[in-house]
Amino acid sequence: MSRIVHVNGAWLPEAEATISVFDRGFLMADGVYEVTTVIDGRLIDFDGHAARLDRSLGELEMPAPVGRDALLKLHREIVQRNALGEGMIYLQITRGAADRDFTYPETPQPSIVMFTQEKALVDSPAATRGIRVISIPDLRWARRDIKTVQLLYPSMGKMMAVRAGAEDAWMVEDGLVTEGTSNNAHIIKDGRIITRDLSNDILHGITRAAVLRYAREAGMEVEERAFTLEEAKAADEAFVTSASTFVTPVVAIDDARIGGGQPGPHARRLRELYLEQSLRAAI
Ligand code: PLP
Repeated sequence: MSRIVHVNGAWLPEAEATISVFDRGFLMADGVYEVTTVIDGRLIDFDGHAARLDRSLGELEMPAPVGRDALLKLHREIVQRNALGEGMIYLQITRGAADRDFTYPETPQPSIVMFTQEKALVDSPAATRGIRVISIPDLRWARRDIKTVQLLYPSMGKMMAVRAGAEDAWMVEDGLVTEGTSNNAHIIKDGRIITRDLSNDILHGITRAAVLRYAREAGMEVEERAFTLEEAKAADEAFVTSASTFVTPVVAIDDARIGGGQPGPHARRLRELYLEQSLRAAI
């Protein structure tokens, strides 16, 4: 079934949806995005994604094409138009079409594009058996806190992982793990969650924030600090978080098996907690 996508105020069948070749998202990766999960037709963590979108736009001095209420309306409408039960909503905002120039246009006409991707997320084989990751150097730019569409290096990293027989890559800088190609990286040692602290070095994951909040509420200790690759390899458990994978256990890092190569009890509990609580708060 053809999807109905949203492009600059219009609802169109996907084959008819187009963007200008002069769009700065296409020419310069001058754009930001968000991915919001839908379960049972409801939006998970919408407020967090909307707030981060505002922040990304602000950091790039890019005007928002729609306000927060209109954005929520668009999210609800795209779910309804596509009869989306479970999956994701992809939203991209770029600085729009302008004559090619490195400086920003003085009066940008931002573009907004939204589409849905139907996917079974709750019942996930990766969550049941855990994923394997390889370590690669973090060669991305230094403003990883802005969720931009420049995803080439993460894409290369994912290809390196797949070719090495793994599912993802954890990026490492100065011996310290930053994050996964499209998720935040966490380890557990002696019952305590250790996760990289927030800075420009990593994306401020919306799922990360929610999982840490639920973990603390459940009485788990959380230490927000950088950890080394060696520390990760010697951890009791490891896991990643993202909007579409929730909490997914990591059972190997390079040649090191984590938790005997099996998903551990803490990661399983955190996934259950996240699903339970975020579904309760879904809108
Ligand atoms: N880190 C990176 C580099 C990502 O691309 C993503 C998601 O796309 C995340 C972390 C997880 O963020 P969130 O939980 O908001 O999906």
